[in-house]
Amino acid sequence: MQGQMMNVPLTITTVMEHARLYHAKREIISAIDPQSTHKTTYGEAFERAAQLANALAALGCKPGERIATLAWNDYRHFEIYYALTCSGAILHTINPRLFEEQLVYIINHAEDQWIFLDPDFVPLLENIQDDIPNVKGFITLCDEKQTPKTSLKNIRCYETLLSEQKSDFEWPELDEYSACSLCYTSGTTGNPKGVLYSHRSIVVHALSVSMLDASGFSANDIVLSIVPMFHVHAWGLPFRAPMIGSKLVFPGRYLGNGEVLQNLITKEKVSFAVGVPTIWQLLIDYLEQSGKKIEPLRRAIVGGAACPQSLFDQFSNEYDVELIQGWGMTELGSVGTVNIPGPDFEHLNEAEKKSSVLKQGRPIFGVQVKITDDEGKELPWDGQTSGHLYVRGPNVCNSYFSQESDEFAVNGWFMTGDVANIAADGTVQITDRSKDLIKSGGEWISSIEIENCALTHPQITEAAVIGAKHEKWGERPFLIAVKRAEDSSSAEDILNWFDGKIASWWKPDNILFVEELPHTATGKVSKLSLREKYGEFFIK
Ligand code: ADP
Repeated sequence: MQGQMMNVPLTITTVMEHARLYHAKREIISAIDPQSTHKTTYGEAFERAAQLANALAALGCKPGERIATLAWNDYRHFEIYYALTCSGAILHTINPRLFEEQLVYIINHAEDQWIFLDPDFVPLLENIQDDIPNVKGFITLCDEKQTPKTSLKNIRCYETLLSEQKSDFEWPELDEYSACSLCYTSGTTGNPKGVLYSHRSIVVHALSVSMLDASGFSANDIVLSIVPMFHVHAWGLPFRAPMIGSKLVFPGRYLGNGEVLQNLITKEKVSFAVGVPTIWQLLIDYLEQSGKKIEPLRRAIVGGAACPQSLFDQFSNEYDVELIQGWGMTELGSVGTVNIPGPDFEHLNEAEKKSSVLKQGRPIFGVQVKITDDEGKELPWDGQTSGHLYVRGPNVCNSYFSQESDEFAVNGWFMTGDVANIAADGTVQITDRSKDLIKSGGEWISSIEIENCALTHPQITEAAVIGAKHEKWGERPFLIAVKRAEDSSSAEDILNWFDGKIASWWKPDNILFVEELPHTATGKVSKLSLREKYGEFFIK
């Protein structure tokens, strides 16, 4: 028997319509230079999205076509998000920090028809335009006066295109399962792979993450999106904030500028923000140097990589901000688990509380998890046994865009490539990535656990562990670390830190201090580059 409720599809158009009707006056603020901001509202932004949808139709864009953006976090990128997805086209957000060969690969693989670009990225596209022949033209995100001189062919100006169009558009009724956007994973290994989201997955994800015990906020919050809009929809914020009715603050191109971030937080009274550990560290470093504060900020979400203990301590002790860890993947539409302290947290002692916040947290609604051994046999949820982490759910990628082999999909579950244990209450703790494991004497060693332990050392600011070749054991852990500039500890001092904290045979055999570690385009330590550089390192 079928239910007798209305068949109204869960599409991004419903988010837009909701915000247009009920939150039209709520502001969107974007940093345009270090001192000044641009101010608009949801109402105005959606009128401009309608103008853009008319402009795209006039350019001959068709539903299902991929249209790319190389853009920072601001109101124009926000308008494009809605104009493309709600008119049935596919928003392909591109990470401008990728290497040129990767950019060429993904633009061609996605068969992008047009590219919206911030003027900053004109030189980047000029360099590769001969290698992306399917692209029909480029739309610069500025007005005529700001349009740079360029050799890019068929270039249009965003503001001129909009000014020629009317501000209403007949948004089509879309199937909730239809594709709306495409994001390529950062590709720490191999070629980038495209995750093709559906309208439904975006809406369900936005609803689940917005629960209070996930990483919810309210219409009284002011929300800062430091995660780039080119990376998994800034973890969903450009959809969640209009859905909830929160004022949205975008840092423009200043995602990595502690001074601009501090300024925005205090001036715009930002109370909720999301970012990766590197960005939060950068903000804290700026606050320490300048003596400035971030008083309005109440809650900050950190994810995308393991977060050092020192960040949790600094946020809570010095700035009175609750730092909450989340774990996710591009393939999950971003968030999979969030570590909000539950009712039992208060009963833990201080040491237990400290180690508890370092875990990745419990699955949000709609995400199922399991761990298995190498043979695929499910492992117990005892908070100890580590295995391959699998997920399934309505927001989880079923297959990659235009890719033949889907070896990550096993019996309807998605293999994350992360290694984790799961506690009886479902709390997930990532202990490693299967591609990063170190195999010593036939046994696995968790590089992440060693890194986490290294990061609890007060003088270590960044750490990576890779497997170095070893005559007897095959591989041994090799720690590559960045120390605080003024620190004079020796390698031996740092290695002694591990005594009693991890299994003795996990203790790194060697340590190399470097000024900085290499990072992937999304700001994570690039283990691939480290392995390429030091993987042949031989420990006797
Ligand atoms: P994102 O950076 O948004 O999480 P990616 O798809 O680029 O998405 O990377 C996903 C991978 O990042 C995960 O499979 C995991 O290895 C790692 N990761 C994400 N969040 C965390 C976290 N909180 N702790 C440890 N690793 C994490």
